[in-house]
Amino acid sequence: MIYLDHNATAPLSPVARKAWLDAHEHCWHNPSSPYRPASKARVRLEEARLTLAGMMDLCDPQRLLFNSGATEGNNTIIHYYARHNKANAGTLLISPIEHASLTEAIKSHWFGRVETLPVDSDGCVSPADLVKRLNQHHQPKPTLVSLMAANNETGVRQEWLECAKICREHQLPFHCDASQWLGRLPLSGLANCDWVTASVHKCGGPRNVGILIRPSSVNGLSLIAGGGQENGQRGGTEDLPGILAMLAALQNIADVPSREASARARDAFEKEVCDNITGCFILGKTAPRLWNTSAMILPMREQHQWLNALEQHDILASSGSACAGHRIGGTGSHVPLAMGLSPEQSRHLLRFSAGSETTSADWQQAAKALVAIFKKWQNNKKSHPKGYSELTHVINIPE
Ligand code: PLP
Repeated sequence: MIYLDHNATAPLSPVARKAWLDAHEHCWHNPSSPYRPASKARVRLEEARLTLAGMMDLCDPQRLLFNSGATEGNNTIIHYYARHNKANAGTLLISPIEHASLTEAIKSHWFGRVETLPVDSDGCVSPADLVKRLNQHHQPKPTLVSLMAANNETGVRQEWLECAKICREHQLPFHCDASQWLGRLPLSGLANCDWVTASVHKCGGPRNVGILIRPSSVNGLSLIAGGGQENGQRGGTEDLPGILAMLAALQNIADVPSREASARARDAFEKEVCDNITGCFILGKTAPRLWNTSAMILPMREQHQWLNALEQHDILASSGSACAGHRIGGTGSHVPLAMGLSPEQSRHLLRFSAGSETTSADWQQAAKALVAIFKKWQNNKKSHPKGYSELTHVINIPE
């Protein structure tokens, strides 16, 4: 099987597995318990915080909280601002392509205004648009600006560092959801964001382990109330084996010098597919993207038919965000829609996302499979099942 769905989750890396097992064997006590082995666990926990804070250039390691990942982190931030949003007068400024863990948290906790910045046809927010909005003094000043570092469906990277600087100049808090960035691109710069959320299971760490970076001045994060762990900001016994496994996974990745070869293998895959499948085009092709992701609109059949056929060729891919997978056949993902595609086109999105173990032969195999499936269907139009839909009008095919 060739696994090309790392933006959903990735296999546990061998170094993370080893760190996790070692911790369960030698360092499994509750870091808050009052005896010597527990203080050893406490020391390991704080060492992990210091090391990771150092990797992220955080001057104040206490800004770094360990949690269960980005969904919890995004909910925590929105919940925090919602509690302080007196008379529901605040405004959240976000992009229209944010992950459901942010937008659904907003729906659940936030009763103020929500504004979205536009994205261009590649799915990029322009820092100039952010400046323009923040200079509209007749409009309410946003309570928080939130922008993901890289999109989970297209891999398109945002200019989050530039946006963080703009927000700092306007003395506004800036949140960056770095879930797809962590472990794929350098961590430097994230310390410039007031808030950062991320999970580590997309790059070889364990599930349900992640980070939340908060501003040093912020206390009283009370989404998960409990025994006062994480400096009183997040209740619940710390998952030390998970945290040590996360650290091991991130340290291991930090040693990889460059991902240029991986990006070239992905680009060659896209060329092969677009050269042989008429009407197929790549989302965000001209924008800076993560090295691992390729999102494409295919010209015929339905997403699930492609995915089933690919699986018969031993290729595992997805129709976009894993949590939207069940909406196959619905209105299509909000991401291509925000980029100006039609609902019909959005329903023809396939996403391929590689990991550190993916080889260029894997990408070649995936391209070969896509082309073979397309040719078979093209030659056999009579075999179209009931409900078959063919996408005939494709707009904006990039050159
Ligand atoms: N944010 C982004 C951009 C994501 O891609 C994901 C997961 O796909 C999440 C948040 C939620 O991560 P988790 O399910 O690990 O909490």
